[in-house]
Amino acid sequence: APASPAELSGASPILREIFGFDAFRPGQEEIVDAVTAGENVLAIMPTGGGKSLCYQLPALLRDGITVVISPLIALMRDQVRALQEAGVTAGALTSGNTDEETEMVWQAIEAGRLKLLYMAPERLASGAAMGMLRRIGVSLIAVDEAHCVSQWGHDFRPDYLRIGELRRALDVPLAAFTATADQETQEEIVQKLFDGEAPRSFLRGFDRPNIHLAFGAKDSPRRQILDFAAARKGQSGIVYCGTRAKTEALSAALRDAGHSACFYHGGMEAEDRRIVETRFAREDGLIVVATVAFGMGIDKPDIRWVAHADLPKSIEAYYQEIGRAGRDGAPAETLTLFGPDDIRLRRSQIDEGLAPPERRAADHARLNALLGLAEALHCRRQKLLGYFGEAAEPCGNCDLCDTPADVFDGTTVVRKALSAVLRTEEWFGSGHLIDILLGADNERIRAKRHDELSVYGCGKEFGKRQWQAVFRQMMGHDLLRPDPERHGALRFTEAALPILRGEQTIELRRDTITSADRRPAVKA
Ligand code: ADP
Ligand code: ZN
Repeated sequence: APASPAELSGASPILREIFGFDAFRPGQEEIVDAVTAGENVLAIMPTGGGKSLCYQLPALLRDGITVVISPLIALMRDQVRALQEAGVTAGALTSGNTDEETEMVWQAIEAGRLKLLYMAPERLASGAAMGMLRRIGVSLIAVDEAHCVSQWGHDFRPDYLRIGELRRALDVPLAAFTATADQETQEEIVQKLFDGEAPRSFLRGFDRPNIHLAFGAKDSPRRQILDFAAARKGQSGIVYCGTRAKTEALSAALRDAGHSACFYHGGMEAEDRRIVETRFAREDGLIVVATVAFGMGIDKPDIRWVAHADLPKSIEAYYQEIGRAGRDGAPAETLTLFGPDDIRLRRSQIDEGLAPPERRAADHARLNALLGLAEALHCRRQKLLGYFGEAAEPCGNCDLCDTPADVFDGTTVVRKALSAVLRTEEWFGSGHLIDILLGADNERIRAKRHDELSVYGCGKEFGKRQWQAVFRQMMGHDLLRPDPERHGALRFTEAALPILRGEQTIELRRDTITSADRRPAVKA
């Protein structure tokens, strides 16, 4: 059976249903927990790291109204609109409001429906606003761009100094967010917003340097996972699979190979799942083969490895899942397998989902980020952290730092493949396209008269499996995407056009192409 929606989400249902995210980003979960629990919090996250979720989600989990102080009116408006579209009652009181908007906010407050109230700091200057906030049942204050309270910084906003007063008056927890990490600014924030009483601080970088990162082209996945586990026999590990059936098959294979292994998925009785959770926590060296349903609430510190038998659904999900390894800080290892079928599956899950178009586009972008990581040519950690807004040096603890990728100019090869797509008017999948490139003689080729195409037989420098690797890399670079309305036929993206026109070159990894022919094709 396919995984249930809750299993696919791998995180709190609100995260998925309201915000449309399948996993927390680095740091978010801990911050959300602390804010929801009513602690005073100072969180420093890079721009784009996902701060707004860290107060929006707790606002939904807590009773009463969360007041959000933000200096940027346009940003407040965007957030309010997005929340409203997601079905959350949110409103803003800013100088830019129309009378109707203000009226709507008041009505929502009076009806007890408002969850988030955005306010510009200038508002706090009026005694009326302060009095209003005292009456309406505020249970949390969230401060965006908290460094604006710093008199020595570039963005000083005198009205931010009133926030401390507001906190004292309301006597509710306060969560302050900023991307500015220097020590003086932090101290000033603590002085001015928290009256010098140290809040719970989240300043940690997102890097987990003890986790070794590695990706592998999926080739014979069962063998690859068995090899990986064999090299780590007796260590606790998790294997993530895309389907329930696969968790059962793979755990049986691991047991046959002499490991202590069991499976876990959302289709099991709650009681059976609890047994696995307890065994995993207590036993040494157990392997759990699971869907993403396994993970939440596991805090076993000495998980030594995490392997993905199938590609996760986004870069956030990847980070969260590998992040379960090595919480004790000792070395831990990961391996993520990916192949063209994974990419097709993940794309079609997004396309066939019920999400609105903007959300689907964002989901494709997050999948692209993961594929970019899978097909990376240089340090993976640098790329991963870069995606989350953190700069880093090459890490020395990933497969590409261990063995630099062997790349070659793949422009000619890629253009041949793109021409095959173009000449067949984007109506075919990689199997048939490869037949054309190899000049195969079969029924379908003859029926479609594809042996008369100029590209027919122009790709004989490679074998079938090598071409599969080329197509996978092309999908990884998002040059081609399967179209669900054409039974998964590959179609161009914008990114392919400059290459097709000869305006841009592209590098491919030679290693995943040449190794493609070495192993026999075995299906897991
Ligand atoms: P910041 O305020 O830290 O600059 P935002 O809160 O605006 O960042 O978030 C930046 C982007 O990251 C937004 O496009 C948001 O949709 C996205 N984002 C936030 N959290 C997640 C998550 N858990 N998974 C995927 N995308 C996320
Ligand atoms: Zn590295």
